[in-house]
Amino acid sequence: MVSDVHSNLEALLEVLGDAGCFDLAICAGDIVGYGPNPSECLRKVVELGFHSVMGNHDYAIVTGDTSGFNPYAVEAIRINRRLLGADEVTRLGGLPTGLSLDLEGVRVHVYHGSPADPINEYVFPEEAEAVAEDYLESLDAGLIILGHTHIPYVVEAEGGFMINPGSVGQPRDGDPRASYMLVEIRGSAVGVEHRRVDYDVDAVASKMRRVGLPEVLAARLYGGW
Ligand code: ZN
Repeated sequence: MVSDVHSNLEALLEVLGDAGCFDLAICAGDIVGYGPNPSECLRKVVELGFHSVMGNHDYAIVTGDTSGFNPYAVEAIRINRRLLGADEVTRLGGLPTGLSLDLEGVRVHVYHGSPADPINEYVFPEEAEAVAEDYLESLDAGLIILGHTHIPYVVEAEGGFMINPGSVGQPRDGDPRASYMLVEIRGSAVGVEHRRVDYDVDAVASKMRRVGLPEVLAARLYGGW
């Protein structure tokens, strides 16, 4: 399970290498935005058959609507849009805002933001603790996967798990390593393993400078903020 790849190909490739073989891959949105390789990241996600939902940056690329974005994020959307082909923008536009999958008898729901506001609402760890049980019950789900905050968590509640795998391409929990989660479903038992992976931040930062992305977006990758 990944989320918030944000055009960071080096981080995505390290995560895929670390994950090894998997039966199914899910992305909780924001394949693009912020980083220098939107096209390559989208291609990889499509090629590997990821089940992905739409994030707010994917939505901004497709619609041009950057309301609520800070100026650096807006600039990154403008540059990412320029780096993407029309067919790739169309593909992003086809991403669903939510997904419901049956995995080995476990009902899995995926949203970038929240079940109530799939694209824009932030569910931080404290809120997740408070709402997990209600969401699991109302969706009749055994596993809910969210993204958007770039802060990883695993909440186990009555009825199942609510998780956020953190961000592959722009972690914000103070740890600069790419964040993702492995989920194993056996019988009706769900097991979640949070993993962190080093990647070549220098390579990404220099590519970011080359395509004209704001310096602050490169700097934050080093500190994971
Ligand atoms: Zn994001």
